[in-house]
Amino acid sequence: ALRTDILGVGFDDLTLEEAVARGTAFLEEDRFHYVVTPNPELVDRASREGAFREALNGADLVLPDGIGVIYAARILGRPLKGRCPGIDFASGLMASMAAGGKRLYLLGAKPGVAEAAARNLEARYPGLSICGTHHGYFQEDGPVVEEIRRSGADAVFVCLGAPKQEYWMREHGPATGARLMAGLGGSLDVFAG
Ligand code: UDP
Repeated sequence: ALRTDILGVGFDDLTLEEAVARGTAFLEEDRFHYVVTPNPELVDRASREGAFREALNGADLVLPDGIGVIYAARILGRPLKGRCPGIDFASGLMASMAAGGKRLYLLGAKPGVAEAAARNLEARYPGLSICGTHHGYFQEDGPVVEEIRRSGADAVFVCLGAPKQEYWMREHGPATGARLMAGLGGSLDVFAG
């Protein structure tokens, strides 16, 4: 599908429900996918940094996180259907993963946060299996990739902040065996709270 261009970043024009349905479908495809949810600050950064722009445009889903992106799209004469905040996309996806018996791995935030988020999320989405967690302040990528691979994760929430999480998903995602990663910034702090 054609994407809506905002300063060089191509956004998918989907409702939140449509975006969650796409994410759910990715879990059934035998290849790696990743999802990004840029806000205006990140679009601005991407307009100046080619490598970051590539990491965003290379995603399988590019969703508008903030109302600022929606306004920009309207001003540019290419309106988008609405906001798809990362945290809402994540919530919809977890409900769908719980129903489908899928495995979710949580990566990022300070030590202890992903574990607290896992407890809250398993209580909130009965049937959801959190198959592992790791904090976001690791030095070496290899052991983390290997741990995700061994966990048998279908999906991984990568919460390392931007632009680190986008680069990390793109570079290391395929080797983990996961079908889907979503870069979700500070979401684990929210889910842990
Ligand atoms: N973070 C991390 N590793 C890092 C840097 C940041 O795990 O090397 C985490 C940080 O603890 C926080 C999240 O990434 O949980 C970034 O949150 P922030 O609110 O800055 O990101 P945003 O949601 O604005 O992208």
